[in-house]
Amino acid sequence: YDKPTNTISYASMNNYPAVKLLPPSKKKRILVTGGAGFVGSHLVDRLMLLGHDVTVLDNFFTGSKTTVSHWVGHPNFELVRHDVTEPYMIECDQIYHLACPASPPHYQFDSIKTVKTSFMGTMNMLELAKRTKARFLITSTSEVYGDPLVHPQSEDYWGNVNPIGIRACYDEGKRVAETLTYCYQRQENIQVRVARIFNTFGPRMNPQDGRVVSNFVMQALKGEEMTVYGDGKQTRSFQYIHDLIDGLIALMNSDESRPVNLGNADEFTVGDFAVMVKEIVEKVQREDNQQESPKAAQSKVVYKPIPSDDPQRRRPDNARAKEVLGWHPRWTVSMGVEEMVRYYKAQLEDGTIV
Ligand code: NAD
Ligand code: UDP
Repeated sequence: YDKPTNTISYASMNNYPAVKLLPPSKKKRILVTGGAGFVGSHLVDRLMLLGHDVTVLDNFFTGSKTTVSHWVGHPNFELVRHDVTEPYMIECDQIYHLACPASPPHYQFDSIKTVKTSFMGTMNMLELAKRTKARFLITSTSEVYGDPLVHPQSEDYWGNVNPIGIRACYDEGKRVAETLTYCYQRQENIQVRVARIFNTFGPRMNPQDGRVVSNFVMQALKGEEMTVYGDGKQTRSFQYIHDLIDGLIALMNSDESRPVNLGNADEFTVGDFAVMVKEIVEKVQREDNQQESPKAAQSKVVYKPIPSDDPQRRRPDNARAKEVLGWHPRWTVSMGVEEMVRYYKAQLEDGTIV
């Protein structure tokens, strides 16, 4: 008997990161909408490693299959192309509802669709939670505070949002999504969790997505002009992705149904942040390439017009997250930026990005 030669090696089919083996009573069926995006893909990694069954729904508008491709084929994982503005049925225990573009150029690209995604997408996922009795978590945003008149922002602050400006499709979209979430809690007894996320960054952020961290890191790596919008005196507080994922999972599994801020309270002016990014990129380029004059040294800060309604200040009050979740950020901004620099640098070198 001649053994067939064209068979697959079964060993190579188990080439996945090692996941925890959970007893059936502890293994949850978890739906992650927007799971192929930046935050979603990190959440998927963590939930998979914890041993749960994870289904991703994504229409790949700003996300990409490659962010979760390392799980494709794993028995605990499923990737479904689906637009959340259409209903979807699946048995599940928990829903992490992330689907929504988050970067200003992306959410302004088709602002009507952004509002539709925020409202109808959230309604469809709340209806699913109602049918399945799943616990529902929505990733809301610090943008619900608008251009805040209170600083830092605690969850009790109602915000200062321009309802008709260019950011309104996102800000008001998230506000109505929160409203809808609490309507379903009151009227339909859905278990809800609301995370108000402050600016978050890390590997797998789309380098072209126009957000400040990805822009500055890419510009410095290439020795290009670093584009500060306005006078650079507006502030933001930047959180590293791993801290956010800790917070989201802790919130989902807590008893807290009020909104909870998740962000790093280290506040920078955008101008100072540009200088910091440039210094970190220079340091990494010197260390890795032993370059005498790293490309980042050529980068100059240039000032561009500030987009309208750009909030002046942003810093989370984290007291509630600390009290109810025992959560606080562990990554300093500079540690996170260095990781991000190494990630984009490696991708630029192997030609995955330009
Ligand atoms: P992202 O753009 O990388 O990811 C969003 C994902 O949702 C993408 O994969 C996209 O393809 C998908 N999506 C968009 N519209 C969809 C639709 N109609 N149907 C199905 N899928 C759709 O953004 P992100 O930074 O990962 O943000 C994820 C969530 O976190 C969003 O809800 C965002 O509002 C929230 N958030 C993020 C930040 C941040 O700084 N990253 C801050 C506040 C809130
Ligand atoms: N910003 C900037 N240069 C850039 C991109 C953004 O100065 O190349 C500014 C932007 O105007 C805002 C801040 O950086 O004041 C954060 O912008 P981002 O789009 O990252 O997030 P958001 O405005 O939603 O907080």
